[in-house]
Amino acid sequence: MKVTEHIKEAKETLFSFEILPPLKGKSIQSIYDGIDPLMEFKPKFVNVTYHREEFIYKERENGLLEKIAIRKRPGTVGICAAIMNKYQVDAVPHLICGGFSREETENALIDLQFLGIDNVLALRGDSIKTESSFRPHPDGHAFAENLIHQISDMNKGNYMMDDVQLEPTDFCIGAAGYPEKHFEAMNLAFDLQNLKRKVDAGAEYIVTQMFFDNKKFFSFVEECRKIGIAVPIIPGLKPIKNLTHISFLPKFFHIDYPIELSSELLKCKDNKSVEQVGIEWGIQQSKELKAAGVPCIHYYTMSNSSSVKKIAKQVF
Ligand code: FAD
Repeated sequence: MKVTEHIKEAKETLFSFEILPPLKGKSIQSIYDGIDPLMEFKPKFVNVTYHREEFIYKERENGLLEKIAIRKRPGTVGICAAIMNKYQVDAVPHLICGGFSREETENALIDLQFLGIDNVLALRGDSIKTESSFRPHPDGHAFAENLIHQISDMNKGNYMMDDVQLEPTDFCIGAAGYPEKHFEAMNLAFDLQNLKRKVDAGAEYIVTQMFFDNKKFFSFVEECRKIGIAVPIIPGLKPIKNLTHISFLPKFFHIDYPIELSSELLKCKDNKSVEQVGIEWGIQQSKELKAAGVPCIHYYTMSNSSSVKKIAKQVF
């Protein structure tokens, strides 16, 4: 079932979460271990992130450097099929532009359709570590909007091989939104216009980047509505878990902590106290969002579901 259908059917705020594929070499059990503790909150869908290849340079005997691509985590197709089969819950694979030609994207979507997976979250992806800015595949997409156009075209039966008559796909497409602006955008207004282009291209709902200040989310939703973005907007929350997160999350995700939260974090001397602050903040944020009637709250587990479980117990 599609994410938008779950939202339409729901009488109250839904619970959903995102998991990371395990590092290569680990078994599917590590995925189940992350999902099992959260199933009591009856998620309607579970997202599975996609991780691009990384490149390393190895020196050869002749002194030349060899560029080697490494995939640290497996793709999403098999994991999504396994989740749907084991839990009878919808799985939402993340699909990115980076590293994919349009043909590879089409093939991935055909595989998903065969498996009965009818949701995708369409993203651009970030630049790889060795690039200063995002470089699309020579035959791929530069922006998520273009990827969304490709999926919408397939939903109309328009494939790349136009000499063969193929069944239209029926994907429900999600897109990413940034309450604190995407870090590359010139300003929030420009970013919102680009978000609108994704919706106009066929995105049926938006999931936001993590944020810690609900006021920023509410204002983002207001601005979206003003420019005609009418689709459901799902807030994304991440419980801060350890001392490293304190500086890592703002640096990596380009988000700010509100003063009240940062002063609580400054008092923390160890991971345990940070975790406790993260849980309490997450509960407070979630309760306020739920009271405001958001369609769903989406939690970033980052392979650790224990804090999300403690928050969900108080909220759902
Ligand atoms: P876009 O919507 O393409 O936007 C990227 C930038 O380009 C923005 O600054 C935007 O304003 C600008 N822009 C957009 N269209 C145009 C245009 N036509 N002309 C000029 N500028 C334009 N990354 C992963 O690698 N794997 C994941 O699984 C993953 N999951 C995510 C899930 C969520 C909910 C979120 C919020 C992010 C996720 N990301 C993931 C990170 C995401 O890939 C990065 O934030 C990436 O930098 C931008 O992706 P996007 O889809 O928002 O890009």
